[in-house]
Amino acid sequence: MEKISVIVSCYNEEKTIPLFYEESKKCFKELKDIEIEYIFVNDGSFDKTLDIIKELNKKDKSVKYISFSRNFGKEAAMFAGLELCTGDYVTFMDADLQDPPHMLKEMLEIIKNEEYDMVGTRRVNRKGEPPIRSFFARLFYKMINKISDIKMVDGARDYMLMTRQVAESLKTIKEYNRYSKGLFNFVGYNVKWIEYENVERVAGETKWSFWKLFKYAIEGLTAFSTAPLLISSFLGLLFTIVAFVLIIFIIIKTLIFGDPTSGWPSLACIIFMVSGVQLFSLGIIGQYLSKTYLEVKKRPLYIIKETNIK
Ligand code: UDP
Ligand code: MG
Repeated sequence: MEKISVIVSCYNEEKTIPLFYEESKKCFKELKDIEIEYIFVNDGSFDKTLDIIKELNKKDKSVKYISFSRNFGKEAAMFAGLELCTGDYVTFMDADLQDPPHMLKEMLEIIKNEEYDMVGTRRVNRKGEPPIRSFFARLFYKMINKISDIKMVDGARDYMLMTRQVAESLKTIKEYNRYSKGLFNFVGYNVKWIEYENVERVAGETKWSFWKLFKYAIEGLTAFSTAPLLISSFLGLLFTIVAFVLIIFIIIKTLIFGDPTSGWPSLACIIFMVSGVQLFSLGIIGQYLSKTYLEVKKRPLYIIKETNIK
């Protein structure tokens, strides 16, 4: 019998896990000759998440759990699940039912009957999301698709069903600054996208503040594009040319009109502007440097405190 590993990252999801389990169990019954392996990754929750998962494990042996020693983030949780799962197919789902479990049937049929290695889901709209968040999300996808080598699909979710081969490829990428949406793309293979209408979270609250999303966006940008680094080179060149033209202009002006002491306001403006640009460029370089710093330290992506996976 073939097995699907369902990896669910949970951070303070005590309200949603029971609902998720019920709903998904119901949907998975429709899958014929398929064994399901749940892998709940407790990402350092401080509510009853772990107790609830253990409770489920008592009555259902297909429920496995990994519990981190602290909050390592969703990316780390997904990776831990990936490393420890054993299914012939692997999928990632959110605990809040925003990734409809009933779609899994269709996804599995596509992988089995068509020439695809991976099936991805994408939201066609962002109904129910704050407009400002949607606006910045769209802007991010526009930007990243312009400047990075790989294409990212707007509205794509981490809810992907993949074959064991794809999962093994993903496991070989051990980078610290993980951005899964890019990595799914990076590994290649044949991907089919299926669309669905956005669903709102069943209970609880979103764990992603605007600031967290902003940092995640920078992560995506720096991990998959080095174009921002070019900005400083470009501006450096531009300002050198401008300076050169100005020098010639001032020499000629001085030769013709003499040298009355004036022009310090413009000088102050120039100093301000150029040092602003310098700091901006330094900031960009700093971003890359800090990412590199974290990579070379080779710290573990996550630390497991407790698990029932042998
Ligand atoms: N999550 C996690 N670690 C974190 C933040 C979130 O494992 O540090 C999980 C969370 O429990 C949920 C999923 O990631 O299962 C998506 O989070 P959420 O629904 O809050 O994000 P949104 O759907 O609003 O983008
Ligand atoms: Mg959600």
